Amino acid sequence: VRPEEHLTCDGEKADFIVDLSNVVKRDSLGGERVCDLNRFYALIEALVDFIHDDDVQICTIGDWSLVQRKSDLTEEEKRLVKRWRHRGLTEMYDDADPRILQLADAFPHLWVVSGDDYGDYHRVYSWLPDNRDRFLAAVPGGAGGVKVVRRIVPIKPEWQLSRKEEETLLKGAHLYDGRGGSRARTLLSRVWRCPDDDCAAFGPDTADGQPLPVYGNGVVRCPTHHTKLTDVGPNPPRIQLKVLVDGVTRARFMVRSGTETMVGRAPEGPDGVALRSSWLSDEAIRGISRTHVGLSWDGHRLTVRDLSSNGTRVREANARSAGELVGRGGRRRLRQGQVISLYDGVELVVSGREFVFREEPADDEPWDPTGPAATSPTSVHHL
Ligand SMILES: [Zn+2]
Repeated sequence: VRPEEHLTCDGEKADFIVDLSNVVKRDSLGGERVCDLNRFYALIEALVDFIHDDDVQICTIGDWSLVQRKSDLTEEEKRLVKRWRHRGLTEMYDDADPRILQLADAFPHLWVVSGDDYGDYHRVYSWLPDNRDRFLAAVPGGAGGVKVVRRIVPIKPEWQLSRKEEETLLKGAHLYDGRGGSRARTLLSRVWRCPDDDCAAFGPDTADGQPLPVYGNGVVRCPTHHTKLTDVGPNPPRIQLKVLVDGVTRARFMVRSGTETMVGRAPEGPDGVALRSSWLSDEAIRGISRTHVGLSWDGHRLTVRDLSSNGTRVREANARSAGELVGRGGRRRLRQGQVISLYDGVELVVSGREFVFREEPADDEPWDPTGPAATSPTSVHHL
């Protein structure tokens, strides 16, 4: 594994949030030391397997105790973690939990890998208690490896919650505020600038996407430098899509509101997304147009415009049917659980936990951890 290639602080581009200490200290994952970064490397491979994507992207949130003297990470591992932070690839806090939950709240498409129940925050984030569709635990896999399994966040007895809450409100209030997600979404709708010009996250050259600022007590701060950020203007909403060829993710790209993004073998426009012929069969190359579709995102809905010669279909992600033709020149708004099919086996899907556009099942639907993704309840928090 080359961990750097999988690390990001941009929640919109990520697939997972990883509670770094929780994984690095989990002795059931092998190794002799209390803290071992190899457990995290093994987890990356498990996450690749979990979403069938070699390019899996992870927001890792660590805590400072990992790199302090008493930590038994090797000196090299400590240097490496500090370097990741300096390059804007990971974030470090005295207490990682509030930040993990801020990110999870702001980016509902992200899975959270942690064994923690976050009991202190169950009343701050109403989606947390009894959550069945977002949390994963790292457990020993076959042949000394690691795998991830879904887990349910248990509901804490009321008295226990209140006492823990009080403690947390005292010690961690500077990192979150009770207004939750709406606050985070507002922050994401602005471009922020750090007073430190070399800032990897909020410097002058970060037009391609910024991480979620840290917020609390009415102040918006840089996650790296903890300095106050300046609001320098609006940030159009964006959404990440993946190119799937025969079920394998070949590329990721962002669609921003206000611009139509063209996709095809050789699409028009400076921001066009080109499908490489090495990914495609000869039949698919013949079937897919140079500019096949145009995609627009308004912050709530994805619309596809069919510009192809041979047609574009919109189909249900979990159905076997070929789907319905959009029709040349026509537009179609995607509903929950739908994907865009450019050619048999060549699809564009919304990134995230099995696609954000999914029907929300009834509350009493039984949860089957071994069943297909179709049965997992997923809220459409993006809307
Ligand atoms: Zn900064």
